[in-house]
Amino acid sequence: MPYQITKDYISIGNSRPGQRLQNVEFIVSHDTGNPGSSAYANRNYFENVDPTASAHTFIDDNTILEIIPLNEKAWHVRYNVAADNRIYGEDANDAAIGVELAYGGNINFEEAYKRYVWYHAYLIDEYNLDPSSDIVAHSTLDPSRRTDPQNALNKHGISWNDFINDIERAYDRYFQGNEDITEPVVQGSSVDLPLDVGDSGQFVREVQQDLVKSGFNLPTYGIDGQYGPETKRTVMKFQRQYGLMVDGLVGPQTIDKLKEITNSSTLINDFPLPDVTLQRGDNGPGVKQLQRALKEINFDPKQIDGLFGPLTEDAVKRFQSMYTALANDGIYGPNTRRYIEMELDN
Ligand SMILES: [Zn+2]
Repeated sequence: MPYQITKDYISIGNSRPGQRLQNVEFIVSHDTGNPGSSAYANRNYFENVDPTASAHTFIDDNTILEIIPLNEKAWHVRYNVAADNRIYGEDANDAAIGVELAYGGNINFEEAYKRYVWYHAYLIDEYNLDPSSDIVAHSTLDPSRRTDPQNALNKHGISWNDFINDIERAYDRYFQGNEDITEPVVQGSSVDLPLDVGDSGQFVREVQQDLVKSGFNLPTYGIDGQYGPETKRTVMKFQRQYGLMVDGLVGPQTIDKLKEITNSSTLINDFPLPDVTLQRGDNGPGVKQLQRALKEINFDPKQIDGLFGPLTEDAVKRFQSMYTALANDGIYGPNTRRYIEMELDN
């Protein structure tokens, strides 16, 4: 193992309730939201102040520090958020490990990020998880209040997808013994901020997506992952609208503002889906909500009329046929809902 894990547990108290975590089903990725505060500084805070929040592991540029045993619960996501139940069928605190990235100040980002990526791969291996579905950002679970860990990652040109890709590569290399992966494990940190004309890649694509979500279109080239003159002009319009320095460069302030705007308008919030099973013959407002969501993700049921007829059934079936995990039965239930929501979230 290229890195060591330090286990230095805090005392039982508010931050470490000592309750058993039965099954680890997913990982919630966080950043500390407190630039410059090291892994040990965080441990000291939770040990001494003992607030009713915490996470299992804090990672900075030289330490991977577990402050709560991984078979005990930590309070790292509010219980009354709905997304964890929707996506995983459980409250995060009852089924997930919380991992925090320390960043900013004197913390060497690249070193901290490498450890953060490696540790996620280690957990994937340890608990037999799937990196593409079993790692979730705190911001996804609590979008109205949280922006982590993208808050820290995006400032270094790393998108959420970059991060997941880096974890998959680290897993292949370090836990599957795939020696062929000779390129640097950490790909995501290759984009230097601020973005300017000539930059390209996944992070540029996500910035473009956020611009479009914020109502700033890219009519000629669209979301192409290339930071060209059109993207630059559009960034300048965005900056002007929100009172930022109008330089057409995407740095931390522009990223923060884009996240603020796009988080407040996530489609999941705009298209709340009913929490019931619906099938042909049903009708009512829940069916209408489902029809709107289907239309939004381009599985048009043709009529938004609140009647679950053959066209709506067909739209549900077409959607289900995209995913092997879904029964192709035209019945809307919790699984189909989860996948529609993932689609809305993209
Ligand atoms: Zn968090």
